[in-house]
Amino acid sequence: MKAWIDGAIVEGTEARIPVLDHGFLYGDGVFEGLRVYAGRVFRLDDHLRRLGTSARAIGLRLPGTDALREIVLATARAHGAPDAYVRLIVTRGTGSLGVDPESCRAPRTVCIVDDVTLFDAEKEAAGLDLVTVSVRRPAQDVLDPRVKSLNYLNSVLARREARLRGADDGLILNAAGNVAEASGANVFAVRDGAVLTPPATDGSLEGVTQRTLLELGRDLALPFAERSLGRTDLLGADEVFLAGTGARVVAVRSLDGETIPGATPGPVTLRLREAYLDRARRQGTPLRLPEPRVD
Ligand code: PMP
Repeated sequence: MKAWIDGAIVEGTEARIPVLDHGFLYGDGVFEGLRVYAGRVFRLDDHLRRLGTSARAIGLRLPGTDALREIVLATARAHGAPDAYVRLIVTRGTGSLGVDPESCRAPRTVCIVDDVTLFDAEKEAAGLDLVTVSVRRPAQDVLDPRVKSLNYLNSVLARREARLRGADDGLILNAAGNVAEASGANVFAVRDGAVLTPPATDGSLEGVTQRTLLELGRDLALPFAERSLGRTDLLGADEVFLAGTGARVVAVRSLDGETIPGATPGPVTLRLREAYLDRARRQGTPLRLPEPRVD
């Protein structure tokens, strides 16, 4: 693991943040999770744009986009693996005890590059078991789920509840009972050949993977629609899958103990998964890693 912190790249285990950083104290900050495939950072500009939107939503001033891009590329290069996971974080910075962000003079940027496993390989192949969790996604005027802030307790509690109930992840509904998303991925249902996913206004992050799949759908002539979905829509779907940078494209095998009827993983899920991984390996901002030595 490598980390960029306070202007230097260090071994990840050596990186430290002060206890008065408001990211640590209050979850006051924003972040992005990106992946490196075959020596290229996938959708770097999309992630930086979303980070910018999240930062504006909480009134946090970011370093310039070029500086952030360089931090990501330099840290990933120092890590050196052609396939890796990148976590880019900007906190409000060090301040005093007390929530007032005015006490924080300078935002702190941290970039971590490591491996990540959201679900084990066996689960990825067989499909995930989900349960509808009791914790709901907050409304936009409570804590806007479109803002990728360091305040992830809602997702943590959803995932914890799902695990306690023997499932792999939680299906999170909004206050109206519509599907929002999973703890760290967007939700998709396939019905009669069309791929349906809830709009972000139903309580989800505007996923970079979600947008990539939408583009792939166009190329593959697969109809896609953003539509509010209830739990029953998922139970009646031919296929259900999750998608996100960490999760990639992963089938859902059951919801609340009911098997999703289509073959798991179903044909549309498999097609999109393959197309997604193929695009991820070909497209992206190159790290320009040194050529491996052949002695
Ligand atoms: N929803 C949540 C809550 C997430 O944490 C993530 C992962 N960043 C996603 C959706 C998927 O977003 P993306 O495809 O941009 O990784």
